[in-house]
Amino acid sequence: MDQLDPTSLRFELGIVLATTLALFYGVVYRTTRSSYALFWCLALLSLAAGTMLFLGDGTDAQRWTTPLGNAFTALGAALVWRAARTLDRRPLPRWRVVVAPLVILVASALDSPATDPWAGSWLLFPLVSVLVGLAAATMWSARTDDVGRLRRVTALAGWLMSAFYLARATALLVWGADDDRFTVVFGTVPSTVVLTVMLVSATFSMSALTNELQAADLRHAASHDPLTGLLNRNGLDRRAATMLRGVRQSVVVMADLDHFKQVNDTHGHLVGDRVLVAFAAACRDTLRSTDLVVRYGGEEIVLVLPGASTTAARGAAAMVRERLADLARSAGLPPVTASFGVAEVAPGEAFDHALRRADAALYRAKAAGRDRVVVDGAA
Ligand code: GH3
Ligand code: MG
Ligand code: MG
Repeated sequence: MDQLDPTSLRFELGIVLATTLALFYGVVYRTTRSSYALFWCLALLSLAAGTMLFLGDGTDAQRWTTPLGNAFTALGAALVWRAARTLDRRPLPRWRVVVAPLVILVASALDSPATDPWAGSWLLFPLVSVLVGLAAATMWSARTDDVGRLRRVTALAGWLMSAFYLARATALLVWGADDDRFTVVFGTVPSTVVLTVMLVSATFSMSALTNELQAADLRHAASHDPLTGLLNRNGLDRRAATMLRGVRQSVVVMADLDHFKQVNDTHGHLVGDRVLVAFAAACRDTLRSTDLVVRYGGEEIVLVLPGASTTAARGAAAMVRERLADLARSAGLPPVTASFGVAEVAPGEAFDHALRRADAALYRAKAAGRDRVVVDGAA
């Protein structure tokens, strides 16, 4: 490491950060316009600015480049945290991001920046450790699932950097900046190398993460109905087959609103949409989390109840009807009713066959006057 001189290395880091920033901005931010990508860009920009300001070390300008460089580094770390929180859809209030840099700016300026390039570092290092550690913790436990492995890779880069800065802070406190041991392990040269590796790795995994999140969004959009938020019928057969595997007794229900066309014709499609949303909510509120609720068609909802009997299905249908009436009343919607066809899935029977029997039972419920439950095969 002795052959590496701090100035060229810092200059190099500035260039690497600027290149990474340009690529991340062009490839990730411009295509997604996501706010966390923007915060990541701003974080890289601040860290690059900080690094460039540290080039003032040993010159007359050090008096102000040191406090400013420290402030930009702290701002960069705070923005890393903000980017992680935004990705997790828990954005931070803006003032939280500027507190650390302002405190660092004042502390470094009041220290002796004219004579000491490490002025304020005693506070900067632990602060960076905490902020980057908070970002790593956010990434590690992020609620955005589906992308577990990638967010852990990103979090790992954060943990390592946080640990490095904690060790650096301790070494500065115990040994002091002039000690050879500090220079060799935590001085400008090694820490610039560490920073380069961590920031490039984190940026790379952030962009991979973005691709994964977009793919997850597309998968969600392809399998869900935007109006009610229920699953749509794409993949219903596959989901139902998985659910019913190994379950001794199960029931499938086809539910359909009564005279729904009339609701649309009389009150307009927007009111019709709200009725549909209430119908979906009534089904979801009533059923267990292990049941499947699918918007099968316009105003038809399929329910799959693994482990349930036809008697239990009757009970569930009665509760859905009651809940639908309540929801419509409290939302000031026209009174609506629904009809239900119930079929027990016979052992070894294909799901779509049982579904057709439920549909036939629904047809009989409609023919018998609507607002009722008919069980297939029941007298
Ligand atoms: P029945 O009691 O026999 O089921 O009569 P119905 O009027 O409910 O049955 P029909 O199948 O004739 O009408 C279904 C209506 O559902 C027709 C269509 O305009 C309406 N519809 C389907 N999807 C939507 C939607 O997303 N929003 C709204 N507002 N209406 C929808
Ligand atoms: Mg209908
Ligand atoms: Mg219908």
